[in-house]
Amino acid sequence: MGYAKEIAGKDKVSLARVNPSEDGGLNKEEALQKVAALGAEMMDLLDLLYEAGQNGLLIILQGRDTSGKDGTIRRLLSFVNAQSAQVIPFKIPTPDEAAHDFLWRIHKQTPGRSCISIFNRSHYEDVLVVRVHNLVPDAVWKRRYDYINTFEKGLLDADTIILKFYLHISKDEQKQRLLDREKEVTKSWKLSVGDWKERDFWDDYTEAYEDALAKCGTKEAPWYIIPANHKWFRDVAVLEQIVVALRPYKKPWLDHLEKIGEVAKKEIAEYRRQKGGIE
Ligand code: AMP
Ligand code: MG
Repeated sequence: MGYAKEIAGKDKVSLARVNPSEDGGLNKEEALQKVAALGAEMMDLLDLLYEAGQNGLLIILQGRDTSGKDGTIRRLLSFVNAQSAQVIPFKIPTPDEAAHDFLWRIHKQTPGRSCISIFNRSHYEDVLVVRVHNLVPDAVWKRRYDYINTFEKGLLDADTIILKFYLHISKDEQKQRLLDREKEVTKSWKLSVGDWKERDFWDDYTEAYEDALAKCGTKEAPWYIIPANHKWFRDVAVLEQIVVALRPYKKPWLDHLEKIGEVAKKEIAEYRRQKGGIE
């Protein structure tokens, strides 16, 4: 049992029942030590993912404004080889994107084998912000849960590992973070009146998130609710979940690498035999 709450069935989700201030009994210092250890293990596992070439990894980060999506990504990237990872932020659709079906811009950014894609927001916005602000008729966004599940199933069938994280903060914590942004000049670039306006729709978002998590959390591609009021705990919980999800692949990846090595060694031996030795 990890630090995150796993959603992998169709049961109703209640965010009110998950404590956003959960700390797993850790203090900040212990959490930072855990982050270092889990980060090192994740780095090794991701190297194997890259070398074995059998799976891609898709990490989806969702959460309200100030929930820590950017901070989580910064933390993850400190343990990821830049060659194999890309971060994709999904913003308000461009006219070209809006002219297509909602998955068009998403599918193009999914990771191939050996690769890692980290989504900062995702196709879930199309059942979240779109629903809360009535950007399309109800019947349209309601159909999207099935599209999303089918889409993700297709990615799984193509050997993509999918991890979906909802960063769970409290309304008070959001207020504090928004006010902090106004005080610190280095955070000014993040200031937006839109964030205060979105806050007025807090309960609507809660409902939209609860539905998205319940309808699209599956055994193969679960949602994880990450208590995110403490940034240091959030980082431990996300890293732990990634490591736990990747560990079972370690043996198959190593076996595959060994096989690749044996084939290559045979070819080299054959080449040497034909040439009559090493020059
Ligand atoms: P940020 O993550 O702060 O850079 O803001 C990106 C904004 O784009 C957020 O307000 C999202 O709600 C919005 N956004 C992302 N995807 C969509 C979408 N499919 N439809 C409408 N708005 C979106
Ligand atoms: Mg924002």
